[in-house]
Amino acid sequence: MAADQSKADVTRPFVARLTRPEDDPDAFARAVEALKHGELVAVPTETVYGLACDATNPDAVARLYAAKGRPAINPLIAHVPDFEAAAREGDLDARADRLGRAFWPGPLTLVVSRGTMCRVTPAACAGRPTLALRVPAAPLMQALARALDRPIAAPSANISGRVSATTADDVVEDLGRAVAVVLDAGPCPIGVESTIVDVSGEPARLLRPGGLARAAIEEALGATLADPPASATQSPAAPGLLTSHYAPSAAVRLDADDVAAGEALLAFGPDLPDGAERAVAIVNLSPTGDLAEAAANLFQALRRLDRTGVSTIAVAPIPPEGLGEAIRDRLVRAAAPRPSIHGD
Ligand code: AMP
Ligand code: MG
Repeated sequence: MAADQSKADVTRPFVARLTRPEDDPDAFARAVEALKHGELVAVPTETVYGLACDATNPDAVARLYAAKGRPAINPLIAHVPDFEAAAREGDLDARADRLGRAFWPGPLTLVVSRGTMCRVTPAACAGRPTLALRVPAAPLMQALARALDRPIAAPSANISGRVSATTADDVVEDLGRAVAVVLDAGPCPIGVESTIVDVSGEPARLLRPGGLARAAIEEALGATLADPPASATQSPAAPGLLTSHYAPSAAVRLDADDVAAGEALLAFGPDLPDGAERAVAIVNLSPTGDLAEAAANLFQALRRLDRTGVSTIAVAPIPPEGLGEAIRDRLVRAAAPRPSIHGD
């Protein structure tokens, strides 16, 4: 037993429990060193756990794509510690300026033109002339970006196309040995990825609903956000917007107003669908119907129901307003037919 245990430990990433660098300076320094050496570090953000690497290092970026099994056509978000750092990497026009100042640090990603001094390796942008930038609020990610003094690429720390990671255990389960260091700050408070707004052209477009509600962005911008081009949600040529995404092993049935025998139920709010008593397992995203609570619980709930081994998860209707837009987006993609090539 003891021999097996020590053998298992050798194959594990170094996992440290901390919320801020000062909670465990040695573990934090180990994470910074790993990034400097082109290795991968799992780090919590306010949205989901990120699989971080030095975005200026082509070898590190290649290692990150390989670890996730992420298609090379799907570009990465570069994380920087503050607005000024963002302005050094990307061309921030008046719209980016306004949104960045209003919402950074926070769960907003802006797609802008690459700046002339941009250090992000072209492969991280999938060869595009644009760059996705975010200033995260979570203290560990902030501090890592500041300590490295280079942009950090950090897609969600899970296998490409599968349910996103919102705890350190999810990361270890999905990516295990590919990661040098896992920084564990407990579950992510927002629980869904950042909202992505493309301001590299006209009009400003909502590329992905996320942890910052559309209405707040439109109010700050003083304009309505356009939707992504219809083709973008269907074609593999449109990275990150591929339809199947966030997929558990079980099939997902949306807007269920009843539960069939043998199904698991992902519930929302105080009223359960007809036949809920037949459900093999039930997780309620928010018994009181709170969309922020539901977003925070979404990916854990999908993982938990998936672990029961059911073949179908029935999902109760979720209202589309506020964070409901992001929750519904994730569930629609989780329910989509699964091609052999996934998005992120
Ligand atoms: P994530 O999968 O959470 O890492 O988010 C990355 C997503 O941001 C990609 O799948 C794209 O949809 C979007 N994105 C990243 N970089 C760019 C870029 N340079 N141009 C357009 N969209 C981008
Ligand atoms: Mg992801």
